[in-house]
Amino acid sequence: MFAPVLSPLLAWAAGAKLKNWAGNIEYGTDRLYSANSIEQAQEFVRKHARMKVLGTRHCFNHIADSTDEFLSLRPMNKVLELDAKARTVTIPANMSYGQLSPYLHEHGFALHNLASLPHISVAGAIATATHGSGEKNGNLSTSVSALEMITAPGDIITLSRKKDGEGFSGAVVALGALGVVTKITLDLQPTFVMKQYVYENLPLSQMQEHFDAIEASGYSVSLFTDWQKKRINEVWVKTRVEPGQEFKPTPEFFGATLATRNLHPIAELSAENCTEQMGVPGPWYERLPHFRMGFTPSTGDELQAEYFVPRKHAVEAILAVERIRDQVSPHLLITEIRTIAADDFWMSPCYRQNSVTIHFTLKPDWPAVSKLLPVIERTLSPFEACPHWGKLFTLAPERLRARYEKLPEFVTLSKKYDPTGKFRNDFLNTNIFS
Ligand SMILES: Cc1cc2nc3c(=O)[nH]c(=O)nc-3n(C[C@H](O)[C@H](O)[C@H](O)COP(=O)(O)OP(=O)(O)OC[C@H]3O[C@@H](n4cnc5c(N)ncnc54)[C@H](O)[C@@H]3O)c2cc1C
Repeated sequence: MFAPVLSPLLAWAAGAKLKNWAGNIEYGTDRLYSANSIEQAQEFVRKHARMKVLGTRHCFNHIADSTDEFLSLRPMNKVLELDAKARTVTIPANMSYGQLSPYLHEHGFALHNLASLPHISVAGAIATATHGSGEKNGNLSTSVSALEMITAPGDIITLSRKKDGEGFSGAVVALGALGVVTKITLDLQPTFVMKQYVYENLPLSQMQEHFDAIEASGYSVSLFTDWQKKRINEVWVKTRVEPGQEFKPTPEFFGATLATRNLHPIAELSAENCTEQMGVPGPWYERLPHFRMGFTPSTGDELQAEYFVPRKHAVEAILAVERIRDQVSPHLLITEIRTIAADDFWMSPCYRQNSVTIHFTLKPDWPAVSKLLPVIERTLSPFEACPHWGKLFTLAPERLRARYEKLPEFVTLSKKYDPTGKFRNDFLNTNIFS
């Protein structure tokens, strides 16, 4: 019944090794089974002693890896229920934001935020606390109001924000450790129109003095820098077109200049794969991500690392990285700085803490990057920095675990749903369970 199926969505050549999107991780097995129904997924879970669910493979580390079996739910990709009155949508877990968002817009609804790219699966994104930007916007998991999951024995359970309280807070950013998430209910809001403006060459001194005002200028703000010449190369301001909320562009913004053409975050690259800028109005899902569905996001040939620091340390932490620019720059394609509102998820780096993230898109040279990351981590350690669950890091497991006050509760919760460690892998054993 469970004949291995090479999913057309994953589309690697027969015989080729199964890898993540970036190609830096060759997974420990290429045994991938695609389930067409929840019953098939349940039966698969019952049958195997160890396994992992694979989403859209956009993590840069081994969090999704397995040496045993992979299950894919990608063939299930049709919206299950739109409840207009309750303003919620229930979807199959591994539908991508790119598949979901146009449907929501057509029906008059929107999500509160998106990541830099729409290509990723909802289940994969919420498992790792994937985030966009905007100081009032929690990470993407904060829109989850309920989920359905297959536990290790193969039972189906549902958890919701309303009825499960703390148990729900432990189960949304779950790092793939609790079970196979099969359905997700997301909170919606009425659809909205956005505009996006890009400014070039913001002096670092202006960032230092006016960080709060810059971040408050739009619904979502991203700062891109190569750490050269004491400047932020590009400031992307995404604004909702709503009375009282709209950003009014002026030719100058804290010493930066309004761009007169669409830009890629790396200005030398073509902006063809980027969402429309220059104040052209468009639906939320075509402005919140930086990269367009159907095009390669970012550069396509890269590694990524990202660190969360408490918002109160934002400026100091940014300046600390600027001081090590000579070590960072040879390996860097671009840095992005974003803000994220606090949430209540035990394993979220933003647990009860407004945060700022300092992200590094790096050249695909792991030997060099593996030497650089400890330098960045040491530099950011006075600011209680915490790495992104889906990106590369070298922080020692005991230091990582110390960042999560609710880790003991999470371990207990995982034993409840997965008493035999079916959904664990080396990454989880090392970083969470050891
Ligand atoms: C070009 C690029 C840009 C990015 N931009 C951003 C960004 O703007 N912001 C940000 O925060 N991150 C960003 N990321 C990181 C990315 O969002 C995360 O790594 C995310 O987890 C990827 O989702 P996925 O479905 O591809 O996950 P996968 O790598 O396939 O899986 C991730 C984890 O989710 C688990 N999982 C997946 N599906 C299920 C399921 N149904 N049930 C249980 N567990 C499941 C897997 O087992 C694994 O543990 C970016 C990555 C890339 C490559």
